[in-house]
Amino acid sequence: MNRNKIFFGARLHLAGCYAGVMGIILTLSGVGIYQVMLQAHWQAVDRELESVAGTLHDSLEPLLQQSDRIAPSVQQILPNLCIVGEKCEQESTTHHVLGAIQQESFYALFLNRSGTLIATVGKQPIGTTPRVESDAWQTIEDRQGNRYHQISLLLKNSNGKPWGYLQVGRSLADYDNHLEQSKLTLLVSLPIAFLIVSIASWYLAGMAMQPVYASYRQIQQFTADAAHELRTPLAAIRATVESVLSSDSIPEIESRDVLQTINRQTIRLSQLVQDLLLLSRLDLPAIASQKQPCCLNEIVSDLIEEVAALALQEDIKLKLKIANEPKIYVIGNEEQLYRLMLNVLINAIYYTSEQGKVEVSLEHLDHYAIIQIQDTGIGIDSIDLPHIFDRFYRVNSDRSRKKGGSGLGLAIAMAIAKVHNGNIQVKSELGKGSIFTIRLGLMTTMACH
Ligand code: ADP
Repeated sequence: MNRNKIFFGARLHLAGCYAGVMGIILTLSGVGIYQVMLQAHWQAVDRELESVAGTLHDSLEPLLQQSDRIAPSVQQILPNLCIVGEKCEQESTTHHVLGAIQQESFYALFLNRSGTLIATVGKQPIGTTPRVESDAWQTIEDRQGNRYHQISLLLKNSNGKPWGYLQVGRSLADYDNHLEQSKLTLLVSLPIAFLIVSIASWYLAGMAMQPVYASYRQIQQFTADAAHELRTPLAAIRATVESVLSSDSIPEIESRDVLQTINRQTIRLSQLVQDLLLLSRLDLPAIASQKQPCCLNEIVSDLIEEVAALALQEDIKLKLKIANEPKIYVIGNEEQLYRLMLNVLINAIYYTSEQGKVEVSLEHLDHYAIIQIQDTGIGIDSIDLPHIFDRFYRVNSDRSRKKGGSGLGLAIAMAIAKVHNGNIQVKSELGKGSIFTIRLGLMTTMACH
């Protein structure tokens, strides 16, 4: 398929479309998942900060007395508290309720009512000046570009009067790290996924085009075979005409011979054209509409009558095994059904040697009419058996040509059987003979008129 320019281009185009669409879907899904992950992570940071700040706020408020001043009891539950302007004592004891604030990434700032820093817990962002903003949530950046997220809460003393502000924050280093890693994973995995999708698309496009390519090859082969078959009689006619034209005058007997040769080849040509026309018509669905009830008993009897002389001439014993009643009917085209059986029967006679036997039987089984044509002829090799219904296929061209065959007989028979909801099966043994079983969709059993 890849050697054919049109099919290679079409496969490339199809694979490109598949890969393009899949690439867009992959990118959109990747970006979507990344955004959802980002959102979920940010919400987790907010929740954690809110919970720590809330716990700290609720634990401290009952201990606060005078506004803007840190009571000693606060220092007891926050051992790492560092009051601005005083020497800081870094104690390692932790309190279970406020354990989170002792973590490296968290910090807490105490501001008085005018927004001035009065005490800190943990590492506050370097180079930033704490401020009380109108918005409770803030994201700030220190001098080194590290990001922090913080929440500001108003603290009231035990009397319910405003004491000052509490700012609880945490470093976003692990969050940003996670973000970077996810971005990197996405940037690396997307091209890899796209590459895999492209390779898969190429194979899928190949698979999708396989049946189209097979039928294209079939049509190509059919055209070449038809041209070859038409060329032989045309070449014979041309040679005959040219030989006559090259001689000054020809005797009348010879001119009759010439005309007979031309006539023979013309008959062969028109037979071939008719066969091709019939085959192409059988391929059209419109042919199904021209059907009527046909009595197979009558068709088979007529057929036997027609070939009886030929069988006699070939010294072949022709036997018919058919019950008079009940008559078997199928819905179809009588002319075509006749042609179907004739093609198979003529073959049986031609491919059977002298003193051989050809037996025709008709019966009905379940919903099918079964016509069996059995011969004691040359048989068909198992290698050829799957191809004998192919158009222009001949096992033995010389023998076939002698009987005027072009390799279309069985192809036409099979096409007719298919149009009549049936098929043809063959069993054959080389040197022993063949059995052709024609199966046709049955209408009903009724009397022939
Ligand atoms: P042809 O016109 O050559 O007979 P067909 O399509 O009728 O073409 O048959 C295809 C081939 O099948 C023939 O060339 C012949 O070799 C083989 N064939 C068909 N019927 C028989 C048979 N009854 N016995 C042996 N060979 C057969």
